Amino acid sequence: MHDLRSEERAKLVEELKSLGISNTKLLKAFLKVRRELFVGKDFLRFAYDNNALPINSNQTISQPFTVAYMTQLLDVKDNDKVLEIGTGSGYQAAILCEMGADVYSVERLEDLHQTAKERLNNLGYKVKLKCADGSRGWREYAPYNKIIVTAGSPKIPKSLLEQLSDNGKLVIPVGDEKGQVMYEVIKKMTDEGEPKYLYKTFDDFRFVPLIGEEAWDDK
Ligand code: SAH
Repeated sequence: MHDLRSEERAKLVEELKSLGISNTKLLKAFLKVRRELFVGKDFLRFAYDNNALPINSNQTISQPFTVAYMTQLLDVKDNDKVLEIGTGSGYQAAILCEMGADVYSVERLEDLHQTAKERLNNLGYKVKLKCADGSRGWREYAPYNKIIVTAGSPKIPKSLLEQLSDNGKLVIPVGDEKGQVMYEVIKKMTDEGEPKYLYKTFDDFRFVPLIGEEAWDDK
């Protein structure tokens, strides 16, 4: 397929750079992944605006800056095993794949899960996908080097901490419905084999809610 929108992508990448995104591998991934393939047809024109956009079932594809910010924090290394909670459109998963990660992603809504599955498949991305409550992680394939949660949670789910490997990192927005603070949690196993968690907070964001057993109740 002829790629008509590479200039718009390059412009978006310049904007991300001006906002403090400097990870080269990440910027390259943004130049490559065609965001217009992840948004609904009514929003095609806006695919390269630095804004969140609606997808089905009242959910959103995150703002490009937010995707870049979280991914930069995650500090993805080649062959990192990465678990994403909140597949949504599949865009974040595609970015992670382009950065050389081995990606697992969980989505709770069946229609979004199915659409993302077809889309990522068609694009040749080998993401392992599951439709389930991701606040409980994905135990079968744990541990993960990195876990990224793309929905806002009232707390840090215990299951996600458990499913991190030694030196693993979790990036998750935590707060109330109106706003969340970006948290980074690093797990370190002590010589006694006990996990220690190092917490750091970053900027404020506003995400759709993480709904599940270890997050918000389904209202
Ligand atoms: N990463 C997505 C952004 C999706 S928005 C992208 O790149 O497009 C957040 C997503 O999290 C929504 O699709 C929502 O349905 C999903 N979600 C909310 N609670 C969840 C849970 N407990 N487990 C898995 N997915 C969840």
